[in-house]
Amino acid sequence: MSDKPSIHERLVSAFATRALSLEVGPGARCLDADHVMALGMAAHWLPPAAGETIRLQASSTQVGYRTTRNATRRLAWRLAKMRGWTLSARNVERAADLALAHYMFPSCPECSGRGFEVLDGAPVLSGRACRACHGSGKRPVQARWHDEIVAVIAELETMTERTERVVRRLLR
Ligand SMILES: [Zn+2]
Repeated sequence: MSDKPSIHERLVSAFATRALSLEVGPGARCLDADHVMALGMAAHWLPPAAGETIRLQASSTQVGYRTTRNATRRLAWRLAKMRGWTLSARNVERAADLALAHYMFPSCPECSGRGFEVLDGAPVLSGRACRACHGSGKRPVQARWHDEIVAVIAELETMTERTERVVRRLLR
């Protein structure tokens, strides 16, 4: 793992910035404005569903949680239709909301993603695998609607990867 921020981290911070200057000429660095513009351009080259992921990327600072939630619900609706889920309308939305929470906060809340039990809140790991996540460090997906939630999370991750690939290409 490198310390360099990922395209995703760079995009999120670019949307929070007030420093929207550009550098031109040889040796110019990619600044916040470059990332924002690249994301705007990427939207034209991605399928319509990816536009929702793009909104999702920016939402923590710009558009707000509600927009993101609604985009994720629409995505879940498409999946439900395509794959013939038997969930009620309301439960498709609930599964979508849970998937979004998981996507935004993927670390296991018990061990903060470390994968080991923490001894009495001390910053010492016990060496025993965390019981909540079985050592994976990932937030466990609840049993109810498990497969549907996992499917929505996978869709969010796939779209994020596609968006990152296009933005990275534009910034080269
Ligand atoms: Zn854990």
